[in-house]
Amino acid sequence: MARRSGDIESRIKQKVKKSEIEGLVKHLVSIPSHSEVPTRESEVAEYLNEFLSDEGVPSRLRKVGKNRLNVIATIKGTTGNGKSLMLNGHTDTVPPYDMDIKPFTPKVTAGRLHGRGALDMKGGLGAMAAALVAIRRAKVRLQGDLILTAVVGEEGKSEGTEDIVLKGPKADFGIVGEPTSLEVQPSHRGLEWLEVHVFGKAAHGGQAEKGVNAISMAARFINKVEEDLVPKLASRRSRHTLPPTLNLGVISGGQQPSSVADRCAIWIDRRWTPEESLDQVFQEIYDVFDSVKKERHEFRAKLKRDTRNMKSMTHVPNVVSRSSPLVKALETTVQSHTGKKAKLTSFWGWTDAALLTHFAKTPTVVFGPGGAGAHARVEYVKTNDLVTCANVYSSTALKICRTD
Ligand SMILES: [Zn+2]
Repeated sequence: MARRSGDIESRIKQKVKKSEIEGLVKHLVSIPSHSEVPTRESEVAEYLNEFLSDEGVPSRLRKVGKNRLNVIATIKGTTGNGKSLMLNGHTDTVPPYDMDIKPFTPKVTAGRLHGRGALDMKGGLGAMAAALVAIRRAKVRLQGDLILTAVVGEEGKSEGTEDIVLKGPKADFGIVGEPTSLEVQPSHRGLEWLEVHVFGKAAHGGQAEKGVNAISMAARFINKVEEDLVPKLASRRSRHTLPPTLNLGVISGGQQPSSVADRCAIWIDRRWTPEESLDQVFQEIYDVFDSVKKERHEFRAKLKRDTRNMKSMTHVPNVVSRSSPLVKALETTVQSHTGKKAKLTSFWGWTDAALLTHFAKTPTVVFGPGGAGAHARVEYVKTNDLVTCANVYSSTALKICRTD
């Protein structure tokens, strides 16, 4: 039996060449699909849908709101006796901003494929598509469904994966192909955006003592956050993820130099662990309010959720048990395709895996290629990792979906 599954694995491995995977990823990168493109992800979704269909992988497009298209491809299981596996990757990227390389003219040099989205995450997405193609070309019959969802808007509000959660397809397990340098990452922190509005009292700058300066009050709040809350978070340990963090991202206040500012607002990025709750996240900010108020009774502030980065689902932490069959399957397949023991770590960012695990009840692990420069001026993915990922994805599908 072991011999047989090994044979199938090597048969699949030979079915898609490295140059083909590179070619596919280059093509995906060459189609801009960021938030400033009028057609958004549509063009890249249409290309991927056609590519899969031409290979005999049943694929379709499904509208997500206006102008947005998810790709859903499914290799149907023959008996339904195996479990189903969903491979998930986002088709959008961040805009090129001021890249030092040509963002949409992908080039491979010294084993690195450069371009906007090469790493985050058209590389992982291409490797996922290649895994389906290889299984299809090898005519392997899986018992459970193998699904690819190429989704819109992960860099925005995760509209694409929300749509999958709400309308299906459903799967027993999931893998998100964000870049992990071939590390298996069953968990990561949640992401909450907060806004703090500090209120003062307007007055003329020449009679500042008659007002209450909201900017000065906000500064007091910031000092307390940095002195008390940030160190407390840094010392907090999680069984599953990296420690919690708080980043003061944006501040805005006042009208002009000769007026006492009556308003100042601060936007915060708070990464929370599975051991924390959102109530606690909020309470800790209220505690800072109280401690500023003790020193300055005129301090007045309001705390709100900033929901601009989400549609309807809270960006909760992702937690999948390390003893899950999916984690075990990934550990085995990573070892067999890299010759090294798989590293089990926690992803530093937030991903759509959390929505699938929490809201669709599909335990989803993050696993993808290595490289550098996600959202940065020089972005690349390692081409050897693309091949390893494609092999790991297909071998994991064999283990989860089983062959007949
Ligand atoms: Zn990403």
